[in-house]
Amino acid sequence: MDRPPLGDVQDLATLAKLDETILLDEIKERYQQNKIYTYVGDILIAVNPFKDLGIYTKEFSTRYQHIKQSTHPPHIFAVADAAYQALMGNGGRPPGNQCVLISGESGAGKTESTKLIIKQLVELCQGKTQLEQQILQVNPLLEAFGNAQTNLNDNSSRFGKYIQLKFNDGHVAGAKISEYLLEKSRVVRQNPGEESFHIFYYLFAGHTDGTFGLGDPDTYRYFSNGARDFKKRLNSLQKQYDDLVNAMDLVGFTDEEQMDMFAVIASVLHLGNVSFKVNEDDSVSVTDSNGPVKTAAKLLGIDAAEIEACLTCMVTVTKGEYVKRNYNKGQAEDARDAMAKAVYGRLFGWIVNKVNCLLVPENQDPDAKFNEIGILDIFGFEDFVKDGGKNSFEQACINLANEQLQFFFNQHIFKMEQEEYQREGVDWKEIKFVDNKPLLDMFLGKPIGILSLLDEESLFPKGTDQSYVDKLTKAFTGNQYFVKSQQTNQAIFSINHYAGKVTYAAEKWLEKNRDTLPPGITEVLQSSENRLVKTIFRGQLTRTGSLALQGRMSTSKGTKRRNLMPVSSGNDAAKRKLTVGGQFKNSLAILMERMTASTPIFVRCLKPNHKKQPGVLDTKYVLAQLLYTGMLETIEIRRKGFAVRPTFGEFVEKYKVLVDLKLTPSAQNCSKILTTARLQGWYVGYTKVFLKYRHVEQLTELLEKV
Ligand code: ATP
Ligand code: MG
Repeated sequence: MDRPPLGDVQDLATLAKLDETILLDEIKERYQQNKIYTYVGDILIAVNPFKDLGIYTKEFSTRYQHIKQSTHPPHIFAVADAAYQALMGNGGRPPGNQCVLISGESGAGKTESTKLIIKQLVELCQGKTQLEQQILQVNPLLEAFGNAQTNLNDNSSRFGKYIQLKFNDGHVAGAKISEYLLEKSRVVRQNPGEESFHIFYYLFAGHTDGTFGLGDPDTYRYFSNGARDFKKRLNSLQKQYDDLVNAMDLVGFTDEEQMDMFAVIASVLHLGNVSFKVNEDDSVSVTDSNGPVKTAAKLLGIDAAEIEACLTCMVTVTKGEYVKRNYNKGQAEDARDAMAKAVYGRLFGWIVNKVNCLLVPENQDPDAKFNEIGILDIFGFEDFVKDGGKNSFEQACINLANEQLQFFFNQHIFKMEQEEYQREGVDWKEIKFVDNKPLLDMFLGKPIGILSLLDEESLFPKGTDQSYVDKLTKAFTGNQYFVKSQQTNQAIFSINHYAGKVTYAAEKWLEKNRDTLPPGITEVLQSSENRLVKTIFRGQLTRTGSLALQGRMSTSKGTKRRNLMPVSSGNDAAKRKLTVGGQFKNSLAILMERMTASTPIFVRCLKPNHKKQPGVLDTKYVLAQLLYTGMLETIEIRRKGFAVRPTFGEFVEKYKVLVDLKLTPSAQNCSKILTTARLQGWYVGYTKVFLKYRHVEQLTELLEKV
């Protein structure tokens, strides 16, 4: 009878009894009462409310500064506060670098949580400096270029990001953003019911006067589903455009840079409208030389004839002779799309780079070491088959990133913790968890892994999507995580992910993995007269934002070149270039390293229903998410386990004042402090003290009274 009323439990780890039903009932009741946040020890569960709850105001922000977790209702601001306190050496967490890892399906609320955490961190350090104000604008800016409306989320992140905020003396001293795998293919094609990146619609709303040669948004091929309801949305799009320009101003993009950026965005759309006709000799040429190709060329600062040439044929040098090979219509269209994707992808990379340059104060020593708080906001787990769509290479990478994050969670919460209990002789009954290591091995294994085999097949001139799937099937038949397709003539396969079975269509995987531009296109873009295009294709930004050229230019001595650009026949450079899968694997490894070097705080976002609806909690769906993220086991380990584990030295140093300042680090003296403080339920191991969060709070209270 000592159980508190349903919905009143703020920390599920304090429940005396626990099973699926109890867990779900608590979360559901809390959700109905608009209590979207719940703790599991130090882990925060957040259920997306899909409505404004009025809980992120200045007043709430003030209420959640320098607090003890248990004295306030759970809140995302408390997570920011805990990270900040730890960074400053206060509270129960180990000091030093912190990272907040936010997970959840697409549309669960990761990006919103990220923004709220950053907002609260800026409040915590008073947020008066220019840098702190700049940082607040970075997310809206990146979202304009990297987010899009999908069937799962109206503002879905189509790239992953890790934001590192560096602190000096409690103030932000700089920031760095790392981006992961922008979904470039969205620029040229979108699934039914979906849109391109937001920026394309802002462009029309902000430039209704026909600048950049823009016409009716419904006439652009790269809006696969038309510019749906554009007129109805015009007012709100115009406001979003104004907000974006404001954000770009504040972050430090000049007016010229902004105009250049919009010109490049517009050029992509015009490029998309370039069509081809087949000539009598079977060669192809651009349908209308005075049409979109001319506008695109003008915006890109290139000769239209050069674009026409590099989209319709390729020229190679064999034994000192130029050999011209005409494309067929399909190849020309692919070349056009590849060019558009490359322009957009490079622009995005440049923006992130530029933001990074702007977020480091000019006079700062580049090697200065600061403590930092990292915040990870990736693209959530996706399965578009459920909504009548397809899963491609992008979804495989997105879901792999989510597997990797789940693995990190498991390592941290279950594996390392229980190994420590064993090492330290804690009397402990093992809690089992679902280990997804074998699945990660299947993806990342070398030479037999989903990505390695893809690389192998990508290098193989005769490789096809089907031959790749055949290789996978051969390698992984019998593996419980791999499900081969029933129809052997289709290049599809399924993977049993931690979050459910996902079927992938391997169409165009080899091409997407290679991501090489057809010969000649890079050279044409490098020769541009446009400042921005030149920069994004020729060089790298230095720390100060100025241009540094990457080695020698491949163009011929700066003179106006021929329309046709020869390339070496072997295309060795393309072979040596890391594949998209290879790069992604590397950046995931670097991310894991960074996360391992910090103390993590986990935020688990849950999606209440499939329809983006407020007030509706689909119990089956929520339970599925709770189960596959291992929430029951997590609650179990937080109930029975010890989240805080200082060494004897750390513990005695911090709390000896409660007993005797002369105390030296030893098991006996640790016990003495704990007994004197009248705490219960702790454990003293061979080298460390094992505590629960409430113990730290109780000890802190005693310290305050000394
Ligand atoms: P993806 O993986 O697709 O990027 P995500 O987890 O980042 O998804 P968000 O974009 O953060 O999802 O959230 C989706 C939408 O849900 C938001 O645009 C917003 O409308 C709503 N939402 C999320 N969190 C909150 C919140 N705390 N309060 C009110 N609305 C919210
Ligand atoms: Mg997001």
